[in-house]
Amino acid sequence: MDKSVRICFGILGVLLAPLLSGCIGTDALANPGTNRGVPGGLTLACLDGSEYTSMVVEVDYHPGYKPETSSTDLLLERLDSVCDKPQGIEIQFTETSFSNEEIWTASDVRDVGWDEKSHDPRDKSVLYWQVIFPEGVYEDSSVLGVAVDASTVAMFKDSIDDAENIFRRPSAEKIENSVLVHEFGHLLGLVNIVYTSPADHEDSEHPGHSNNEDSVMYWAIESTSISNFFSNELPTEFDLDDKQDLIGLADGSIECTDQLWRP
Ligand SMILES: [Zn+2]
Repeated sequence: MDKSVRICFGILGVLLAPLLSGCIGTDALANPGTNRGVPGGLTLACLDGSEYTSMVVEVDYHPGYKPETSSTDLLLERLDSVCDKPQGIEIQFTETSFSNEEIWTASDVRDVGWDEKSHDPRDKSVLYWQVIFPEGVYEDSSVLGVAVDASTVAMFKDSIDDAENIFRRPSAEKIENSVLVHEFGHLLGLVNIVYTSPADHEDSEHPGHSNNEDSVMYWAIESTSISNFFSNELPTEFDLDDKQDLIGLADGSIECTDQLWRP
Protein backbone atom coordinates (compact mmCIF):
# COMPACT_ATOMS: atom_id res chain seq x y z
CA MET A 1 0.00 0.00 0.00
CA ASP A 2 1.16 3.48 -0.79
CA LYS A 3 2.81 5.33 2.08
CA SER A 4 0.52 8.33 1.77
CA VAL A 5 -2.57 6.19 2.06
CA ARG A 6 -1.09 4.36 5.00
CA ILE A 7 -0.37 7.63 6.77
CA CYS A 8 -3.92 8.77 6.30
CA PHE A 9 -5.33 5.51 7.54
CA GLY A 10 -3.10 5.77 10.56
CA ILE A 11 -4.48 9.17 11.39
CA LEU A 12 -8.08 8.46 10.74
CA GLY A 13 -8.43 4.90 11.78
CA VAL A 14 -10.07 1.98 10.13
CA LEU A 15 -13.63 3.11 10.69
CA LEU A 16 -13.22 6.15 8.52
CA ALA A 17 -11.21 4.41 5.86
CA PRO A 18 -14.11 3.85 3.47
CA LEU A 19 -14.83 7.57 3.49
CA LEU A 20 -11.27 8.59 3.10
CA SER A 21 -10.74 7.54 -0.40
CA GLY A 22 -9.10 10.61 -1.71
CA CYS A 23 -5.84 10.98 0.00
CA ILE A 24 -3.26 13.13 -1.58
CA GLY A 25 -0.20 11.23 -2.69
CA THR A 26 2.18 13.08 -0.44
CA ASP A 27 4.54 10.13 -0.17
CA ALA A 28 6.89 12.30 -2.23
CA LEU A 29 7.68 13.89 1.12
CA ALA A 30 9.34 10.65 2.08
CA ASN A 31 11.48 10.69 -1.06
CA PRO A 32 13.60 13.82 -0.90
CA GLY A 33 15.92 14.06 -3.84
CA THR A 34 13.25 13.70 -6.46
CA ASN A 35 12.55 16.85 -8.38
CA ARG A 36 8.87 16.07 -8.67
CA GLY A 37 7.89 17.81 -5.47
CA VAL A 38 4.76 17.48 -3.37
CA PRO A 39 1.27 18.58 -4.39
CA GLY A 40 1.53 22.34 -3.90
CA GLY A 41 5.25 22.38 -4.75
CA LEU A 42 4.59 24.58 -7.79
CA THR A 43 1.97 26.79 -6.15
CA LEU A 44 4.08 29.94 -6.35
CA ALA A 45 5.09 29.14 -9.94
CA CYS A 46 1.39 29.30 -10.78
CA LEU A 47 0.38 32.23 -8.58
CA ASP A 48 3.31 34.41 -9.70
CA GLY A 49 3.64 35.61 -13.29
CA SER A 50 7.17 36.99 -13.28
CA GLU A 51 9.07 33.96 -14.58
CA TYR A 52 6.42 31.55 -15.84
CA THR A 53 4.31 33.87 -17.94
CA SER A 54 2.11 31.19 -19.47
CA MET A 55 0.78 27.82 -18.50
CA VAL A 56 -0.22 24.63 -20.28
CA VAL A 57 -2.44 21.94 -18.78
CA GLU A 58 -1.51 18.74 -20.55
CA VAL A 59 -4.37 16.23 -20.73
CA ASP A 60 -3.22 12.70 -21.60
CA TYR A 61 -6.19 10.40 -22.04
CA HIS A 62 -6.62 6.76 -22.90
CA PRO A 63 -8.76 6.15 -26.04
CA GLY A 64 -12.38 6.59 -24.96
CA TYR A 65 -11.42 8.44 -21.78
CA LYS A 66 -11.28 12.03 -23.00
CA PRO A 67 -12.66 14.37 -20.34
CA GLU A 68 -15.92 16.25 -20.81
CA THR A 69 -15.44 19.66 -22.43
CA SER A 70 -17.32 21.14 -19.49
CA SER A 71 -14.64 19.79 -17.12
CA THR A 72 -11.64 21.25 -18.90
CA ASP A 73 -13.46 24.55 -19.60
CA LEU A 74 -14.25 24.85 -15.91
CA LEU A 75 -10.68 24.02 -14.91
CA LEU A 76 -9.35 26.68 -17.24
CA GLU A 77 -11.73 29.24 -15.79
CA ARG A 78 -10.78 28.40 -12.20
CA LEU A 79 -7.03 28.45 -12.88
CA ASP A 80 -7.40 31.72 -14.76
CA SER A 81 -9.13 33.26 -11.77
CA VAL A 82 -6.28 32.54 -9.34
CA CYS A 83 -3.04 32.16 -11.31
CA ASP A 84 -1.07 35.07 -12.76
CA LYS A 85 -0.33 34.10 -16.35
CA PRO A 86 -0.14 37.20 -18.55
CA GLN A 87 0.49 35.09 -21.69
CA GLY A 88 -2.50 32.89 -20.90
CA ILE A 89 -3.36 29.33 -19.95
CA GLU A 90 -4.20 26.65 -22.48
CA ILE A 91 -5.14 22.99 -22.49
CA GLN A 92 -3.41 20.48 -24.75
CA PHE A 93 -5.11 17.14 -25.38
CA THR A 94 -3.16 14.03 -26.32
CA GLU A 95 -4.67 10.61 -26.87
CA THR A 96 -2.33 8.07 -25.31
CA SER A 97 -2.60 4.31 -25.00
CA PHE A 98 -1.56 3.60 -21.44
CA SER A 99 -0.07 0.13 -21.57
CA ASN A 100 -1.32 -1.34 -18.36
CA GLU A 101 -3.17 -0.95 -15.89
CA GLU A 102 -6.17 -2.24 -14.15
CA ILE A 103 -5.20 -0.96 -10.74
CA TRP A 104 -3.18 2.18 -10.15
CA THR A 105 -1.07 3.21 -7.18
CA ALA A 106 0.22 6.73 -6.57
CA SER A 107 3.65 5.69 -7.77
CA ASP A 108 2.16 4.15 -10.95
CA VAL A 109 0.45 7.47 -11.65
CA ARG A 110 3.69 9.31 -11.04
CA ASP A 111 5.84 7.02 -13.18
CA VAL A 112 3.41 6.71 -16.09
CA GLY A 113 2.56 10.40 -15.92
CA TRP A 114 6.22 11.41 -16.13
CA ASP A 115 6.81 9.01 -19.03
CA GLU A 116 4.06 10.79 -20.94
CA LYS A 117 4.87 14.40 -20.07
CA SER A 118 5.65 16.41 -23.17
CA HIS A 119 7.81 18.89 -21.24
CA ASP A 120 9.52 19.39 -17.94
CA PRO A 121 6.99 21.08 -15.61
CA ARG A 122 9.08 24.26 -15.85
CA ASP A 123 10.29 24.81 -19.38
CA LYS A 124 11.59 28.26 -20.29
CA SER A 125 8.72 30.63 -19.44
CA VAL A 126 5.99 27.98 -19.46
CA LEU A 127 4.56 26.10 -16.48
CA TYR A 128 3.22 22.65 -17.41
CA TRP A 129 0.72 20.83 -15.23
CA GLN A 130 -0.64 17.45 -16.29
CA VAL A 131 -3.67 15.27 -15.79
CA ILE A 132 -3.91 11.71 -17.03
CA PHE A 133 -7.22 9.96 -17.69
CA PRO A 134 -6.33 6.26 -17.77
CA GLU A 135 -8.41 3.14 -17.97
CA GLY A 136 -8.80 1.31 -14.68
CA VAL A 137 -9.16 2.28 -11.04
CA TYR A 138 -7.08 3.46 -8.11
CA GLU A 139 -5.95 0.85 -5.60
CA ASP A 140 -8.67 2.20 -3.33
CA SER A 141 -11.50 2.05 -5.84
CA SER A 142 -13.49 4.72 -4.02
CA VAL A 143 -10.89 7.27 -5.16
CA LEU A 144 -12.08 9.28 -8.16
CA GLY A 145 -9.02 11.48 -8.56
CA VAL A 146 -5.59 11.92 -7.01
CA ALA A 147 -2.79 14.50 -7.01
CA VAL A 148 0.54 12.69 -6.69
CA ASP A 149 3.25 15.36 -6.96
CA ALA A 150 3.73 19.02 -7.80
CA SER A 151 2.54 18.73 -11.40
CA THR A 152 0.68 15.43 -11.85
CA VAL A 153 -2.96 14.46 -11.36
CA ALA A 154 -4.93 11.34 -12.34
CA MET A 155 -8.66 11.05 -12.87
CA PHE A 156 -10.39 7.67 -12.80
CA LYS A 157 -13.30 7.85 -15.19
CA ASP A 158 -14.33 4.24 -14.67
CA SER A 159 -14.87 4.98 -10.99
CA ILE A 160 -16.61 8.28 -11.76
CA ASP A 161 -19.02 6.44 -14.05
CA ASP A 162 -19.62 3.82 -11.37
CA ALA A 163 -20.34 6.54 -8.83
CA GLU A 164 -23.09 7.81 -11.10
CA ASN A 165 -24.47 4.38 -11.82
CA ILE A 166 -24.88 3.55 -8.18
CA PHE A 167 -26.46 6.78 -7.06
CA ARG A 168 -27.67 8.35 -10.35
CA ARG A 169 -27.32 11.85 -9.02
CA PRO A 170 -25.15 13.77 -9.39
CA SER A 171 -24.30 12.88 -12.98
CA ALA A 172 -20.88 11.54 -13.94
CA GLU A 173 -20.25 14.77 -15.84
CA LYS A 174 -20.94 16.91 -12.77
CA ILE A 175 -18.76 14.67 -10.63
CA GLU A 176 -15.91 14.89 -13.14
CA ASN A 177 -16.26 18.71 -13.25
CA SER A 178 -15.82 19.02 -9.49
CA VAL A 179 -13.17 16.35 -8.99
CA LEU A 180 -10.95 17.83 -11.70
CA VAL A 181 -11.02 21.30 -10.12
CA HIS A 182 -10.53 19.71 -6.68
CA GLU A 183 -7.35 17.87 -7.72
CA PHE A 184 -5.85 20.99 -9.28
CA GLY A 185 -6.75 22.75 -6.04
CA HIS A 186 -4.30 20.34 -4.41
CA LEU A 187 -1.64 21.35 -6.96
CA LEU A 188 -2.32 24.90 -5.70
CA GLY A 189 -1.52 23.68 -2.19
CA LEU A 190 -5.09 23.68 -0.89
CA VAL A 191 -5.86 23.18 1.95
CA ASN A 192 -2.82 23.73 4.21
CA ILE A 193 -0.57 21.38 2.22
CA VAL A 194 2.30 23.84 1.78
CA TYR A 195 1.22 26.56 4.21
CA THR A 196 -0.90 27.17 7.28
CA SER A 197 -4.06 29.16 6.71
CA PRO A 198 -4.94 32.00 9.07
CA ALA A 199 -8.53 30.75 8.74
CA ASP A 200 -9.75 27.59 10.42
CA HIS A 201 -11.09 25.81 7.36
CA GLU A 202 -9.12 22.58 7.12
CA ASP A 203 -11.21 19.56 8.08
CA SER A 204 -9.57 18.10 11.16
CA GLU A 205 -10.40 14.54 10.11
CA HIS A 206 -9.39 14.95 6.47
CA PRO A 207 -5.99 16.66 6.22
CA GLY A 208 -5.52 18.75 3.10
CA HIS A 209 -9.24 19.34 2.69
CA SER A 210 -11.85 21.95 3.46
CA ASN A 211 -14.49 21.61 6.13
CA ASN A 212 -16.90 23.70 4.04
CA GLU A 213 -19.25 21.61 1.93
CA ASP A 214 -19.71 24.60 -0.38
CA SER A 215 -16.01 24.55 -1.33
CA VAL A 216 -14.75 22.39 -4.18
CA MET A 217 -11.98 21.44 -1.73
CA TYR A 218 -14.52 19.78 0.60
CA TRP A 219 -13.13 16.45 1.68
CA ALA A 220 -15.86 14.29 0.14
CA ILE A 221 -15.41 15.66 -3.37
CA GLU A 222 -12.84 13.24 -4.70
CA SER A 223 -14.38 10.04 -3.43
CA THR A 224 -17.44 7.95 -4.08
CA SER A 225 -18.79 9.27 -0.79
CA ILE A 226 -19.49 12.39 -2.87
CA SER A 227 -22.80 10.77 -3.70
CA ASN A 228 -23.81 10.42 -0.08
CA PHE A 229 -23.53 14.11 0.61
CA PHE A 230 -25.02 15.89 -2.37
CA SER A 231 -27.94 15.89 -4.70
CA ASN A 232 -27.27 17.17 -8.18
CA GLU A 233 -25.45 20.35 -7.21
CA LEU A 234 -21.79 19.92 -6.40
CA PRO A 235 -19.46 22.76 -5.53
CA THR A 236 -17.14 23.70 -8.40
CA GLU A 237 -15.56 26.79 -6.88
CA PHE A 238 -12.91 27.60 -4.34
CA ASP A 239 -14.60 29.27 -1.37
CA LEU A 240 -13.63 32.57 0.19
CA ASP A 241 -11.12 31.00 2.60
CA ASP A 242 -9.47 29.05 -0.23
CA LYS A 243 -9.21 32.23 -2.31
CA GLN A 244 -7.88 34.27 0.61
CA ASP A 245 -5.21 31.62 1.18
CA LEU A 246 -4.13 31.86 -2.46
CA ILE A 247 -4.04 35.66 -2.29
CA GLY A 248 -1.92 35.51 0.87
CA LEU A 249 0.46 33.01 -0.73
CA ALA A 250 0.75 35.16 -3.85
CA ASP A 251 1.51 38.38 -1.95
CA GLY A 252 3.83 36.68 0.53
CA SER A 253 1.74 37.36 3.62
CA ILE A 254 1.35 33.59 4.11
CA GLU A 255 4.56 31.59 4.25
CA CYS A 256 4.81 28.91 1.57
CA THR A 257 6.93 25.78 2.12
CA ASP A 258 8.23 22.94 -0.09
CA GLN A 259 8.47 25.09 -3.22
CA LEU A 260 10.38 23.93 -6.31
CA TRP A 261 10.56 27.56 -7.43
CA ARG A 262 10.19 30.96 -5.75
CA PRO A 263 9.84 34.44 -7.23
ZN1 LIG B 1 -8.60 15.90 -2.10
